[in-house]
Amino acid sequence: LKPIHVVGGGLAGSEAAWQIASAGVPVILHEMRGVPGVKTDAHHTDGLAELVCSNSFRSDDWEHNAVGLLHAEMRALDSIIMSCGDAHQVPAGGALAVDRDGFSQAVTAKLEAHPMVTIVREEIAGLPPEADETNGWDNVIVATGPLTSPALAAAILELTGEDALSFFDAIAPIVHADSIDFDIAWRQSRYDKEGPGGDAAAYVNCPMDKAQYEAFIDALLSGPKAEFKEWENVPYFDGCLPIEVMAERGRETLRHGPMKPVGLTNPRDPQVKSYAIVQLRQDNALGTLFNMVGFQTKLKHGAQAEVFRMIPGLQDAQFARLGGLHRNTFLNSPKLLDRQLRLKAMPRLRFAGQVTGVEGYVESAAMGLLTGRLAAAERLGRPLEAPPVHTAMGALVEHITGGHLDGPGGISRFQPMNINYGLLPPLEAPKVDEAGVKIPMKERGRAKKRLMSMRALEALKAWRDASPLPHR
Ligand code: FAD
Repeated sequence: LKPIHVVGGGLAGSEAAWQIASAGVPVILHEMRGVPGVKTDAHHTDGLAELVCSNSFRSDDWEHNAVGLLHAEMRALDSIIMSCGDAHQVPAGGALAVDRDGFSQAVTAKLEAHPMVTIVREEIAGLPPEADETNGWDNVIVATGPLTSPALAAAILELTGEDALSFFDAIAPIVHADSIDFDIAWRQSRYDKEGPGGDAAAYVNCPMDKAQYEAFIDALLSGPKAEFKEWENVPYFDGCLPIEVMAERGRETLRHGPMKPVGLTNPRDPQVKSYAIVQLRQDNALGTLFNMVGFQTKLKHGAQAEVFRMIPGLQDAQFARLGGLHRNTFLNSPKLLDRQLRLKAMPRLRFAGQVTGVEGYVESAAMGLLTGRLAAAERLGRPLEAPPVHTAMGALVEHITGGHLDGPGGISRFQPMNINYGLLPPLEAPKVDEAGVKIPMKERGRAKKRLMSMRALEALKAWRDASPLPHR
């Protein structure tokens, strides 16, 4: 059997290699760390699956937390990242945190010991070599992460076009639609302009009076900001200035920018003109998530929720993702990848990990797990489809290959995202209990998550059991 090549031995690449080897297919893992003089700006060791920052895989509660659900799905699929994470756990309450050195050493040792795995310390400094009859370069997984080496990034850029690869995120917060207070907010597009789907009510609008605006600006200006690391010292694009940087340029700047109140009428008080208006735009095809338009921010995460909940209508907002601005190489995947996570322009290349536009250690590893299985199934001549969208893994695939909407002029608004329940099709929890007593909102929210998690895990196991790959 010809081998499969995996480029990048981080979270995604290590997991992909493990899955391929477990399927009985030989795999060659190419990792550039370990070559003298070659490094990234964030890694400190030569170990595989090094955690570059925090040592947490976040919540391990599979019943009520989407990343906990992803843990459970990965454990059900014999994940090396989860088994080594579990073996090197450190106390962290409900979260799964790990001893980072013990974890990375365990992943490295397991892969080194596997008879089907060959690890080569080298940089793939450009597009992977041409395939021939035997060398296996017809089936490649690129898992080079947010700090993909410049030579490979340049080659991908040349292949895909200049609007297809981003080098840093400017992320605005995303809010769960069912946490917006529609007794205060209303839906309307500016000047009732119809969007591409003929929808004149595409936006959610949150009105502010003068006092509320002034208090909000004060909070923005005084809130603690995250500092860039030196290597992240990129100039701002004028089109995506952090909201607090705009506020620093003048107290009125936001009222003439993303918070301008023109072309919108509050149906509850049509005569009164709002002093400022915050707009949110639908973020996913399901309509469960809305992003805060123009609100990319460097405010520290803890401060963001507090400051943004000052906005009328968002006082109880639940955030699927908070804002940020950091260096990150990622593809415009919805345009470039098929459902097998193959590059449409060169299908021998599959992409996995953070470079596909998922965010986080666990999400990156999950996409490595999936591409490893897809690539192995292809090599064995028994192709496999991605899991259904109501699993956490399927929801991530949907996010990176199709579930987003385009902005004005068809420009992609695709931005990386952590797993969250808003990416899964919604499911209604009962409103009353068996005795007919109304169940409080908070409890219903928890019940809904539990039902969605159970549905996901059941579907994932059915997908696994129907798959042509062996299961241990
Ligand atoms: P990586 O784990 O980075 O693996 C990619 C590998 O590819 C690296 O080992 C690299 O050396 C190698 N490589 C690159 N180019 C080449 C090449 N041309 N040839 C051969 N090898 C190559 N997520 C969290 O959940 N929590 C955090 O705290 C967190 N902090 C982060 C901090 C920073 C500074 C960054 C950049 C990201 C952070 N992330 C965090 C996001 C993300 O989850 C991690 O970066 C994660 O490691 C991504 O996994 P990956 O496998 O896609 O990439």
